[in-house]
Amino acid sequence: MKYLGSMGSRIKCKCGELVYTNLFSGHNVYRLILDSEYDAFPRPADDDAFSRLLLSGKEAFRCTACKRLIVFWEKGRDGRPTFYSEEPLDETQPD
Ligand SMILES: [Zn+2]
Repeated sequence: MKYLGSMGSRIKCKCGELVYTNLFSGHNVYRLILDSEYDAFPRPADDDAFSRLLLSGKEAFRCTACKRLIVFWEKGRDGRPTFYSEEPLDETQPD
């Protein structure tokens, strides 16, 4: 199943909300890069090279309704997204 196919620039969250995935459309679009990639990035940073690093990161989107994080870990948008829901902190556990 293609998750974006006919919906174009939206993905259906598990809560039913349609989440926009267009990079230029919103504030709920994220790119995940490894901290080690960031650390290894040459300084001073070249803007174009830094943009390429960010664009090579995994795509993630946050549902505006339920706040789930939707991440495409493998194969970009051709792959299956993973949904992460917020879980309250258990205040009874020691730090
Ligand atoms: Zn949702």
